[in-house]
Amino acid sequence: MILVFLGPPGCGKGTQAQYLCEKEDFFHLSTGQALRTEIEAQSPLGIRIQDTMASGNYVDDETILELVEKNIAQLKVKNVLFDGFPRTLDQARSFEKLLDRQGKKVGIVAYFSLSDEVLVERIVGRFNCVRCGRVYHDKNNRPLVDNVCDICGGTQFARRDDDTAESLKQRLEKYYESTRLLVDYYKEKKVLVEIDAGQTLDNVTKQLMKTLEPRLSDDKE
Ligand SMILES: [Zn+2]
Repeated sequence: MILVFLGPPGCGKGTQAQYLCEKEDFFHLSTGQALRTEIEAQSPLGIRIQDTMASGNYVDDETILELVEKNIAQLKVKNVLFDGFPRTLDQARSFEKLLDRQGKKVGIVAYFSLSDEVLVERIVGRFNCVRCGRVYHDKNNRPLVDNVCDICGGTQFARRDDDTAESLKQRLEKYYESTRLLVDYYKEKKVLVEIDAGQTLDNVTKQLMKTLEPRLSDDKE
């Protein structure tokens, strides 16, 4: 099955992706990783990508699609997860065409929805230990002893500059602008499933698995 994750930054889909790959036999096809692999292999496609990036340009949709097509064709696994692709409506349409050529289609699009208030609350207030990187939160995840890292005993902490409510709201607006189109597109294809990402981590996983399980057994040969 081909599964696509959609959801704003901070919705926790990365954690769910990790779970599916570790426990449920999913392969996460990351376009970023695929790009790097191709460059390392110095394939004709890889060299083209390398040249594009070296000249300071973005890798265009056509190249990304070519990369995805190549990777899908080579896959030996049955369950593939995409997170962060497709990013635009154009990419989604081209993605459908290329899957069609291989007799495949997107099985489920899991849309992790979360209110802006909760998202802002989750992200604003985050800080991390400078020495070991452990992440804390002002409200719900403070170190056991104030100003001392639980893990390494470090006493220096840092905050990301762009984790402020204002810049986050801007990032979210940009995100929703492009995602709304994808959500509508996949709703129309009747593959969109909304996951309530405001629940506890365990319950999000449960809801996700409940959605996926019938499909996973369907796909068994
Ligand atoms: Zn630490």
